[in-house]
Amino acid sequence: MENILEVRNLKKSFGGIHAVRDVSFDIRKGEVLALVGPNGSGKSTCVNLISGMYTLDSGTITFMGKDITKEKMEKRVELGIGRTFQTPKPFTNLSVYDSVFTIALKYNKTFDQAAEKTIQILEKTDLIKNIDMKSGKLPIEKRKWLDLARVLAIEPKLIMFDEVMAGLNPTELEGSLDLIKQINEEGVSVLFIEHVMRAVMEIADRIIVLDEGQLLAEGLPEEVMSNPAVINAYIGGRTENAKD
Ligand code: ADP
Ligand code: MG
Repeated sequence: MENILEVRNLKKSFGGIHAVRDVSFDIRKGEVLALVGPNGSGKSTCVNLISGMYTLDSGTITFMGKDITKEKMEKRVELGIGRTFQTPKPFTNLSVYDSVFTIALKYNKTFDQAAEKTIQILEKTDLIKNIDMKSGKLPIEKRKWLDLARVLAIEPKLIMFDEVMAGLNPTELEGSLDLIKQINEEGVSVLFIEHVMRAVMEIADRIIVLDEGQLLAEGLPEEVMSNPAVINAYIGGRTENAKD
Protein backbone atom coordinates (compact mmCIF):
# COMPACT_ATOMS: atom_id res chain seq x y z
CA MET A 1 0.00 0.00 0.00
CA GLU A 2 1.15 3.53 -0.74
CA ASN A 3 2.48 5.64 2.12
CA ILE A 4 1.16 9.12 2.75
CA LEU A 5 3.89 9.91 5.28
CA GLU A 6 7.37 8.50 5.83
CA VAL A 7 9.54 9.61 8.74
CA ARG A 8 13.12 8.43 8.97
CA ASN A 9 15.54 8.65 11.90
CA LEU A 10 13.76 11.51 13.65
CA LYS A 11 15.76 13.00 16.48
CA LYS A 12 14.89 15.78 18.88
CA SER A 13 16.47 16.74 22.20
CA PHE A 14 15.56 19.46 24.67
CA GLY A 15 18.69 20.30 26.59
CA GLY A 16 19.78 16.94 27.94
CA ILE A 17 16.44 15.22 27.33
CA HIS A 18 16.37 12.93 24.28
CA ALA A 19 12.64 13.22 23.63
CA VAL A 20 12.82 11.41 20.26
CA ARG A 21 15.98 9.36 19.72
CA ASP A 22 15.81 7.69 16.33
CA VAL A 23 12.30 7.08 15.17
CA SER A 24 11.24 5.79 11.74
CA PHE A 25 7.75 4.80 10.63
CA ASP A 26 5.24 5.10 7.80
CA ILE A 27 1.61 6.08 7.69
CA ARG A 28 -0.19 4.31 4.85
CA LYS A 29 -2.68 6.11 2.72
CA GLY A 30 -6.17 5.71 4.19
CA GLU A 31 -5.18 3.95 7.39
CA VAL A 32 -5.60 4.73 11.07
CA LEU A 33 -2.19 4.32 12.67
CA ALA A 34 -2.26 4.47 16.47
CA LEU A 35 0.76 5.82 18.31
CA VAL A 36 0.85 4.70 21.94
CA GLY A 37 3.36 4.73 24.75
CA PRO A 38 3.81 5.89 28.35
CA ASN A 39 3.71 9.56 29.31
CA GLY A 40 6.89 11.30 28.24
CA SER A 41 7.75 8.67 25.61
CA GLY A 42 7.86 11.28 22.82
CA LYS A 43 4.44 10.99 21.16
CA SER A 44 3.54 14.69 21.15
CA THR A 45 7.09 15.57 20.13
CA CYS A 46 6.67 13.35 17.04
CA VAL A 47 3.46 15.21 16.18
CA ASN A 48 5.21 18.55 16.68
CA LEU A 49 8.07 17.46 14.42
CA ILE A 50 5.73 16.23 11.67
CA SER A 51 3.53 19.33 11.85
CA GLY A 52 6.59 21.59 11.73
CA MET A 53 6.02 23.19 15.09
CA TYR A 54 9.43 21.92 16.22
CA THR A 55 12.49 21.71 14.01
CA LEU A 56 14.28 18.38 13.80
CA ASP A 57 17.80 17.83 15.13
CA SER A 58 18.13 15.28 12.33
CA GLY A 59 16.05 12.95 10.17
CA THR A 60 13.73 13.31 7.19
CA ILE A 61 10.00 13.66 6.67
CA THR A 62 8.33 12.81 3.35
CA PHE A 63 4.67 13.64 2.76
CA MET A 64 2.92 12.38 -0.39
CA GLY A 65 6.28 11.71 -2.00
CA LYS A 66 7.64 15.18 -1.28
CA ASP A 67 10.50 15.90 1.12
CA ILE A 68 9.06 18.39 3.59
CA THR A 69 11.85 18.22 6.16
CA LYS A 70 12.72 21.85 5.65
CA GLU A 71 9.22 23.20 5.02
CA LYS A 72 7.62 25.61 7.46
CA MET A 73 4.52 24.72 9.42
CA GLU A 74 2.25 26.92 7.26
CA LYS A 75 3.39 25.11 4.12
CA ARG A 76 2.76 21.71 5.71
CA VAL A 77 -0.76 22.83 6.61
CA GLU A 78 -1.33 23.92 3.02
CA LEU A 79 -0.19 20.50 1.84
CA GLY A 80 -2.87 18.92 4.05
CA ILE A 81 -1.19 18.03 7.33
CA GLY A 82 -3.61 18.78 10.15
CA ARG A 83 -3.27 18.19 13.87
CA THR A 84 -5.26 18.69 17.02
CA PHE A 85 -3.70 19.85 20.28
CA GLN A 86 -3.63 17.84 23.49
CA THR A 87 -4.80 21.03 25.20
CA PRO A 88 -6.53 23.26 22.64
CA LYS A 89 -5.37 26.84 22.93
CA PRO A 90 -7.95 29.13 24.47
CA PHE A 91 -9.69 30.68 21.55
CA THR A 92 -10.51 34.30 21.37
CA ASN A 93 -13.29 36.70 20.77
CA LEU A 94 -14.07 35.18 17.40
CA SER A 95 -17.36 33.34 17.17
CA VAL A 96 -17.35 29.60 16.55
CA TYR A 97 -18.51 30.28 13.00
CA ASP A 98 -15.82 32.87 12.30
CA SER A 99 -12.99 30.82 13.67
CA VAL A 100 -13.75 28.10 11.11
CA PHE A 101 -14.85 30.43 8.32
CA THR A 102 -11.63 32.50 8.37
CA ILE A 103 -9.70 29.32 7.61
CA ALA A 104 -12.24 27.98 5.10
CA LEU A 105 -11.90 31.23 3.12
CA LYS A 106 -8.32 30.32 2.33
CA TYR A 107 -9.24 26.89 1.03
CA ASN A 108 -12.36 27.69 -1.01
CA LYS A 109 -12.70 29.72 -4.18
CA THR A 110 -15.68 31.83 -3.20
CA PHE A 111 -17.18 33.34 -0.09
CA ASP A 112 -20.32 31.22 -0.57
CA GLN A 113 -18.38 28.01 -0.89
CA ALA A 114 -16.43 28.84 2.28
CA ALA A 115 -19.69 29.56 4.12
CA GLU A 116 -21.22 26.30 2.95
CA LYS A 117 -18.13 24.38 3.95
CA THR A 118 -18.13 26.03 7.39
CA ILE A 119 -21.73 25.00 8.05
CA GLN A 120 -21.04 21.48 6.89
CA ILE A 121 -18.05 21.21 9.23
CA LEU A 122 -19.96 22.67 12.20
CA GLU A 123 -22.74 20.15 11.64
CA LYS A 124 -20.28 17.29 11.46
CA THR A 125 -18.50 18.35 14.67
CA ASP A 126 -21.75 19.00 16.53
CA LEU A 127 -21.02 22.71 16.96
CA ILE A 128 -23.91 24.05 14.94
CA LYS A 129 -25.84 24.86 18.14
CA ASN A 130 -22.88 26.94 19.31
CA ILE A 131 -22.40 28.73 16.03
CA ASP A 132 -22.65 32.31 17.41
CA MET A 133 -20.92 31.65 20.70
CA LYS A 134 -17.56 33.29 21.33
CA SER A 135 -15.08 30.47 21.00
CA GLY A 136 -13.41 31.41 24.27
CA LYS A 137 -16.74 30.67 26.00
CA LEU A 138 -17.06 27.13 24.72
CA PRO A 139 -16.98 24.38 27.34
CA ILE A 140 -13.72 22.42 27.38
CA GLU A 141 -15.03 19.30 25.61
CA LYS A 142 -16.43 21.44 22.80
CA ARG A 143 -13.10 23.25 22.38
CA LYS A 144 -11.64 19.98 21.21
CA TRP A 145 -14.28 19.82 18.51
CA LEU A 146 -13.66 23.40 17.47
CA ASP A 147 -9.98 22.54 17.25
CA LEU A 148 -10.95 19.65 14.95
CA ALA A 149 -13.37 21.83 12.98
CA ARG A 150 -10.53 24.22 12.22
CA VAL A 151 -8.40 21.30 11.07
CA LEU A 152 -11.18 20.08 8.79
CA ALA A 153 -11.34 23.52 7.19
CA ILE A 154 -7.85 23.09 5.71
CA GLU A 155 -9.03 20.09 3.63
CA PRO A 156 -6.61 17.77 5.42
CA LYS A 157 -5.18 14.61 3.90
CA LEU A 158 -3.66 13.54 7.22
CA ILE A 159 -4.91 14.39 10.71
CA MET A 160 -2.89 13.73 13.84
CA PHE A 161 -5.16 13.43 16.89
CA ASP A 162 -3.19 14.01 20.08
CA GLU A 163 -5.17 12.55 23.00
CA VAL A 164 -8.53 13.99 22.05
CA MET A 165 -10.41 11.52 24.24
CA ALA A 166 -8.91 12.32 27.63
CA GLY A 167 -11.68 13.18 30.09
CA LEU A 168 -14.61 12.12 27.91
CA ASN A 169 -17.42 10.03 29.37
CA PRO A 170 -18.29 6.71 27.61
CA THR A 171 -21.03 8.26 25.45
CA GLU A 172 -18.81 11.13 24.35
CA LEU A 173 -16.00 8.68 23.71
CA GLU A 174 -18.22 6.58 21.45
CA GLY A 175 -19.33 9.71 19.61
CA SER A 176 -15.80 10.90 19.00
CA LEU A 177 -14.67 7.47 17.81
CA ASP A 178 -17.55 7.44 15.32
CA LEU A 179 -16.58 10.91 14.08
CA ILE A 180 -12.93 9.96 13.60
CA LYS A 181 -14.00 6.78 11.78
CA GLN A 182 -16.26 8.83 9.53
CA ILE A 183 -13.48 11.31 8.72
CA ASN A 184 -11.15 8.39 7.96
CA GLU A 185 -13.77 6.72 5.72
CA GLU A 186 -14.02 9.95 3.77
CA GLY A 187 -10.38 9.44 2.81
CA VAL A 188 -8.33 11.18 5.50
CA SER A 189 -5.37 9.21 6.86
CA VAL A 190 -5.10 9.32 10.65
CA LEU A 191 -2.37 9.25 13.27
CA PHE A 192 -4.19 8.51 16.51
CA ILE A 193 -2.50 9.09 19.86
CA GLU A 194 -4.52 7.78 22.77
CA HIS A 195 -4.25 6.24 26.21
CA VAL A 196 -7.74 4.71 26.17
CA MET A 197 -6.75 1.27 24.90
CA ARG A 198 -10.31 0.22 24.08
CA ALA A 199 -10.53 3.13 21.67
CA VAL A 200 -7.14 2.26 20.15
CA MET A 201 -8.12 -1.40 19.63
CA GLU A 202 -11.42 -0.39 18.08
CA ILE A 203 -10.11 2.10 15.59
CA ALA A 204 -6.50 1.26 14.71
CA ASP A 205 -5.46 -0.59 11.57
CA ARG A 206 -1.92 -0.78 12.95
CA ILE A 207 -0.18 0.30 16.14
CA ILE A 208 3.30 1.63 16.83
CA VAL A 209 4.64 1.85 20.37
CA LEU A 210 7.12 4.44 21.61
CA ASP A 211 9.13 4.03 24.76
CA GLU A 212 11.69 6.58 25.95
CA GLY A 213 11.85 8.17 22.53
CA GLN A 214 12.37 4.94 20.63
CA LEU A 215 10.14 2.63 18.65
CA LEU A 216 9.47 -0.45 20.75
CA ALA A 217 7.02 -2.35 18.54
CA GLU A 218 4.97 -2.05 15.38
CA GLY A 219 2.25 -4.21 13.83
CA LEU A 220 -1.38 -5.28 13.91
CA PRO A 221 -3.27 -4.33 17.10
CA GLU A 222 -3.60 -7.83 18.62
CA GLU A 223 -0.03 -8.70 17.74
CA VAL A 224 1.42 -5.52 19.26
CA MET A 225 -0.66 -5.54 22.40
CA SER A 226 0.27 -9.14 23.20
CA ASN A 227 3.99 -8.45 22.67
CA PRO A 228 5.70 -9.06 26.06
CA ALA A 229 8.02 -6.06 25.63
CA VAL A 230 5.00 -3.82 25.14
CA ILE A 231 3.12 -5.28 28.09
CA ASN A 232 6.18 -4.81 30.21
CA ALA A 233 6.99 -1.25 29.22
CA TYR A 234 3.52 0.10 28.80
CA ILE A 235 0.63 -1.83 30.23
CA GLY A 236 2.67 -3.44 33.01
CA GLY A 237 3.57 -0.03 34.33
CA ARG A 238 0.00 1.17 34.40
CA THR A 239 -1.40 -0.28 37.59
CA GLU A 240 -4.85 1.24 37.08
CA ASN A 241 -5.18 -0.93 33.98
CA ALA A 242 -3.73 -4.01 35.59
CA LYS A 243 -6.49 -4.03 38.20
CA ASP A 244 -9.49 -4.09 35.86
P1 ADP B 1 4.30 12.22 25.35
O1 ADP B 1 3.48 13.02 24.42
O2 ADP B 1 4.57 10.82 24.88
O3 ADP B 1 3.76 12.22 26.74
P2 ADP B 1 6.28 14.30 24.93
O4 ADP B 1 6.65 14.19 23.50
O5 ADP B 1 5.35 15.38 25.32
O6 ADP B 1 5.75 12.88 25.45
O7 ADP B 1 7.59 14.48 25.80
C1 ADP B 1 8.76 13.71 25.63
C2 ADP B 1 9.86 14.26 26.52
O8 ADP B 1 10.29 15.51 25.98
C3 ADP B 1 9.42 14.56 27.93
O9 ADP B 1 10.51 14.29 28.78
C4 ADP B 1 9.08 16.03 27.91
O10 ADP B 1 9.24 16.62 29.17
C5 ADP B 1 10.10 16.56 26.91
N1 ADP B 1 9.61 17.74 26.16
C6 ADP B 1 8.62 17.75 25.25
N2 ADP B 1 8.44 18.98 24.74
C7 ADP B 1 9.35 19.77 25.36
C8 ADP B 1 9.70 21.16 25.27
N3 ADP B 1 9.04 21.99 24.44
N4 ADP B 1 10.71 21.62 26.05
C9 ADP B 1 11.37 20.79 26.89
N5 ADP B 1 11.10 19.49 27.01
C10 ADP B 1 10.12 18.97 26.27
MG1 MG C 1 1.64 14.01 24.70
